[in-house]
Amino acid sequence: MEYVVAKTILSKEKYGADWYGIDYKMNLYRGCSHGCIYCDSRSNCYHIVNFDVPKGKENALVTLENELLKKKEKGVVGIGSMSDTYNPLEKEYEQTRGALKLLSKYNFGVSIDTKSDLILRDIDLLKEINSKNKVIIKFTITTPNDELSKIIEPHVCVSSKRFEAIKTLTDNGIFTGIMMNPVLPFITDSEEDIKKLVRLAHDSGAKFIHSYMGMTLRENQRDYYYEQLDKHFKGLKEKYIRTYGEKYSCPVPNYKELYKVLTDECDKYGILYNMKDIIKAYKKEDTSNEQITLF
Ligand code: SF4
Repeated sequence: MEYVVAKTILSKEKYGADWYGIDYKMNLYRGCSHGCIYCDSRSNCYHIVNFDVPKGKENALVTLENELLKKKEKGVVGIGSMSDTYNPLEKEYEQTRGALKLLSKYNFGVSIDTKSDLILRDIDLLKEINSKNKVIIKFTITTPNDELSKIIEPHVCVSSKRFEAIKTLTDNGIFTGIMMNPVLPFITDSEEDIKKLVRLAHDSGAKFIHSYMGMTLRENQRDYYYEQLDKHFKGLKEKYIRTYGEKYSCPVPNYKELYKVLTDECDKYGILYNMKDIIKAYKKEDTSNEQITLF
């Protein structure tokens, strides 16, 4: 594995309480090999060279341990917002597993974003942390259709494997749900697929589904996405250009109606979708079930 120098690992989560109640955040790898065609982390503004090849961070676990020791306040540490921490290198190098051991040792909670069922390898540590602190796992699932997930997220396990992983985690008492983000306009935004995704979420025991019903596009991320549209979805690039021009925020055209479909289906199955409720639930506080809209 190639390494990059990182002076620090842990930083304060600036959206804090509003974003899954996360207090600190870290990425143990730089870059990601899952190949999602819509990935925002590929954008130039993050200055990640050769993004599709994940690199480790030099002395990551030593640095992390020193930083954890210095924190006066314990809290929930978010892992993997810029790079899936369960990329294939993790099988051998176990940076994430090592970090979970440290979080457990120093009594921090954890929030993990992933698309990979490799997370199941660490279920022992997640249970250990869960027994004394807060744990939330956010599986990104953008489509209930495996064939489509192979195209839009080509180098990670298909959606059905992610639902299976959610089932295993929830069966083991780990609070797990779905980030249905992004929703790709004209690709993953059919009412039928959203209903199917919610039903599969229910079958797998998912506790929540969070979605902002759209995607963001900027600079080279847009260029890469459009190249992939030309390759796999002929004519769609032109439709995007007509609909969104150079806009950063690209909600699906009927986002209000679709969000209502999502929330109605979630209500039917008792799945949370409001951020405040999700945070209260995994932090084991009372849920008031207040619901807000995102757009
Ligand atoms: S898993 Fe996340 S970081 Fe990795 S390529 Fe996909 S969107 Fe990007």
